[in-house]
Amino acid sequence: MLDFLNDELEVDEMEISPAYAYEKAPDQEHFLGVEQTRKLFREAFAGGRRKKWRLNHSPLFLDFLEGKAEFECTAWGIPSYSLFGWQRPCYLMSDGYAKTYRELVEGTDWSKYGRGRDPRCENCMAACGYEPTAVLATARSLRQSVRALFN
Ligand code: SF4
Repeated sequence: MLDFLNDELEVDEMEISPAYAYEKAPDQEHFLGVEQTRKLFREAFAGGRRKKWRLNHSPLFLDFLEGKAEFECTAWGIPSYSLFGWQRPCYLMSDGYAKTYRELVEGTDWSKYGRGRDPRCENCMAACGYEPTAVLATARSLRQSVRALFN
């Protein structure tokens, strides 16, 4: 499908995020776990496809998908807003809503969320949680910033 979108439809950029058996998913049996997801991405990206596909992600997030980098979740970086308000902590879980982004950021105990902290997050590798962390890590490193620039 990515070959089709990239080569035939020639879309400008693509974003990709692994699914998992999040709390409200009606199917809790067939989604991949973290190790299976990493293997899938390693195989999918092999043979130069990672470079060929116009993926709108930081190189570190793509490394994360392949299991070459490990990050903590920073879901406040790609928040979810709807008619109900700012969803806490992310669009995959609903532990309430905040009226403002400030209230979301300052009124949420972010240390409670992410893999190893909340069992509901255990198989999550979603871009909303981990791309912001990858971008922050890129910005803190000259080497990674240069790599992102020429990727
Ligand atoms: S790991 Fe982060 S993005 Fe994933 S479900 Fe948990 S809080 Fe949301």
